[in-house]
Amino acid sequence: MTVQRFLITGGCGFIGSNLIRRAAAVGLSGHLTVLDNETMGTPADLPSNVVAYERGDVRDFPTVRRLSEGCDAIIHLAGHTRVLESIDDPVSDFEINVRGTLNVLMAARDAGVPHVVLASTGGALFGSETAPIHEGMLPQPLSPYGASKLAMEGYAHAFSSSYGFRTTALRFTNVYGPYSRLKGSAVAHFFRQILARQPITVYGDGSQVRDFVYVGDLCDGILQSLGASASGVYHLGSGHPTSITSLLEHIRRVVGPDWPFEVRYAPWRTGEVIRTFTTIEKAADTFGYRPAVTLETGLPLTWRWFLDQ
Ligand code: UDP
Repeated sequence: MTVQRFLITGGCGFIGSNLIRRAAAVGLSGHLTVLDNETMGTPADLPSNVVAYERGDVRDFPTVRRLSEGCDAIIHLAGHTRVLESIDDPVSDFEINVRGTLNVLMAARDAGVPHVVLASTGGALFGSETAPIHEGMLPQPLSPYGASKLAMEGYAHAFSSSYGFRTTALRFTNVYGPYSRLKGSAVAHFFRQILARQPITVYGDGSQVRDFVYVGDLCDGILQSLGASASGVYHLGSGHPTSITSLLEHIRRVVGPDWPFEVRYAPWRTGEVIRTFTTIEKAADTFGYRPAVTLETGLPLTWRWFLDQ
């Protein structure tokens, strides 16, 4: 690992706080700065190896520029992630994801940061294209959120070629795991409903398919991409399709008889992607990405974390 010092935007969020724990585990302690606006987490969620913390927003260029000084890499995780909210309010989504990323890239350029890693998305770029999705497919986003992530990737590539530093866009699938208290995504939402002894709502008939990746595996992939100085676009997921019906069967086994739950069915969500999962060969071949945590292992780890809260 050659990176000595790095800035993590959105470091208090679900993926950021897990990443910082992983970074400590692989010996990167002592060189981290976190910038976070505290909408999806607080510094209380961070382990003690964060040496510098600043509450602030990626939309504020001077702050991003100042914190980028002297960094060997920026891991840009701050972003707006909800598809349906982006349909209601495309401007906010644009400001956070596109303007915020442009600020990060300009800060990297001005401060001479050699590598920027960006969190992008798999599913929202492709809609209901034939799965599995892969890096060679033409993105055709169906929501403003997908469009904003594609714009981010475009700016990253353009800055790489125009100003000569590495940018790596990592397209995450559906990530689950500990520290997802504030996430609206399926696994976190289902566990919260079960703990509240409320019924779970399945949109559609449960046949929709996603690629659920354990956050520990994803964080290893982020760190591997940094270590290998990979550039370009890479899909990070589990590589396996799982239907919502199957996910709920796993969850029922994990929570056990003490936590029974009812499943209700509601109409499909507007713009629902019916089937998406990803290939992971490019990340595997380039930087050795090897997700190892199956749902049988990752769901109990996640449920235990929710129970402890
Ligand atoms: N989902 C569901 N009920 C919920 C939350 C999610 O049936 O309470 C389904 C949703 O329709 C989708 C899948 O779970 O097919 C994953 O949803 P999520 O919002 O986590 O991610 P995305 O749709 O962005 O992949």
